Amino acid sequence: MNEIGTVGVLGAGTMGAGIAQVVAEAGLDVLIHDPVTGATDRARERIAGFLNRRVEKEQLRADDASAALDRIRPVTSLEDLAKADLVIEAIPEDLELKRAAFKRLDEASTPSTMLATNTSSLSVAQIAAATARPDRVIGMHFFNPVPLMALVEVIAGPMTTAAVIDSVALLARQLGKTPVVAADTPGFIVNRVQRAYYLEAFRIHESGLAEVAAIDEAMRGIGFRLGPFEVADIVGTDINLAAGLAIFDGFFGDVRFRPALVQQRVVDSGRLGRKTLAGYYDYGTDGARGAPWAALARRRLLVALDAPQIEARILASVVNEAASAVADGVAAPYSIDTAMRLATNWPDGPLAWGERIGLASVVNTLDALHAVVPDGRYRVTPLLRVLAKSGRPFSSARG
Ligand code: NAD
Repeated sequence: MNEIGTVGVLGAGTMGAGIAQVVAEAGLDVLIHDPVTGATDRARERIAGFLNRRVEKEQLRADDASAALDRIRPVTSLEDLAKADLVIEAIPEDLELKRAAFKRLDEASTPSTMLATNTSSLSVAQIAAATARPDRVIGMHFFNPVPLMALVEVIAGPMTTAAVIDSVALLARQLGKTPVVAADTPGFIVNRVQRAYYLEAFRIHESGLAEVAAIDEAMRGIGFRLGPFEVADIVGTDINLAAGLAIFDGFFGDVRFRPALVQQRVVDSGRLGRKTLAGYYDYGTDGARGAPWAALARRRLLVALDAPQIEARILASVVNEAASAVADGVAAPYSIDTAMRLATNWPDGPLAWGERIGLASVVNTLDALHAVVPDGRYRVTPLLRVLAKSGRPFSSARG
C-alpha cells in the first residue's frame, strides 16, 4: 500500500471544494489548483462557511476548523499538485479536458503518485490511457454534498493495481466515508441501478398509465424519501438526461437504458428542475413544490395503474438492474446494496428488497411486461431467473 500524506485536488468547484474540505478535516495536507482566477479563494470561503456553521452547532471545535482550513493550500499550477501522493481530479465532465489534465499530471509527478478522477460517467480506462501509468489511475466517485454523503465509489480501471485500490479505499475510510469498490463499467453502481428507478417511472407516465404525482406518491408510500420525478428535479433534468445518455451510449444503445422522450421535452422547454424553479413540477421561489408541469398533466390516462402496480413495476426494474450489475461483475451483491442505500437514501438495498418481495414475483412482473412490450427493455437478467427458480439468495452468486 502507498502512504498518503498530501492530497492534491484539481478543480475548486462544487466537488473539489467538498473533497478538499473532508481531506483537510481528516488531518491531511491539501494542495488545490483551479485555473480560473479567484476560484480557489471562493472555494476556501465556502469551506470556511461550512466549517463555521458546524462550529456554531457545536459539532466542531473552532481551533480544529481553523487548523483544517490552514491545511488547504492553493497552488498556482497543475504541475505543483504533482508533489502530492494522490491527486484527485474534479474538473468538468469532459473527456478531452480530463485526458489533457491527466497527461500533464502524469508528466509532472513522481512514479509513485496516484491519480484519481471523480468522474460520474466517463470511463476510468479512457482517462488512464492518457497517462504512462494506467496502473496508478483510479476512480474516486464522491457524491454531492461531499461532507455529508457517506459513499465513495472506488472505481478500479482494468489496469489499476490492488495496492492502489487498497490505498484509496483506506483513504476514503480515513475521511469517514464508506468505500465500495466497483468495476469500470457505465454508471458504475449507483448511477446504473438508479437509472431503472427513473426510467420505469418515465415510461409509466409516458405510456399514459399514471400521473407524475401519483407515481412519486406511490414510491414515497413504500418508504422512498422522494419519488423519481422529484429526485430528477433536484439533480437537474439536464444533468439527469446527460447521465442517462452517457449510460445508454456506454451500453451501445441497449434499449434497457434508452431515455424517455419526456426527459428531452422538459429539458428542451428550459425546465431544468429546482434550479430553474420548474422541471417535472413547478416550484415557488421559496422552493416549495407545486403542481406537475401543466403539459404533463394534459397526458390522457389510458388506464390508471394503482399504487401497488406502479411500485411493483419500478421495484422489479430496479432489482433486475441490480442483478444485472452483479452478473456483470460490477461489484459484490452486498456492496451494491450498501452503495444504493448510502447514495440514494433508499429504505433498503435493491437486492435485499427483491429477496424480501420474492425473486419469483419480480421475475413474474418483468415477464408480464415483456409479453406486452417485447423490445428487450424488460428482459430478465439470467442470474435473477436462475436464483428465482432455485430459491437461492444473491449472496450465493458471489465468486
Ligand atoms: P464545477 O463546475 O462545480 O467545478 C469544476 C471546476 O473545475 C471549476 O472551478 C473550474 O474552474 C475548474 N476547471 C475547469 N477546467 C479546469 C482544468 N483544466 N484544470 C483545473 N480546473 C479546471 O463541477 P463539479 O460539479 O464540481 O464537477 C466536477 C466533477 O465531479 C465532474 O467530473 C462531475 O461529473 C463530477 N461529479 C459531480 C457531482 C455533482 O453533483 N456536482 C457529483 C459526483 C461527481
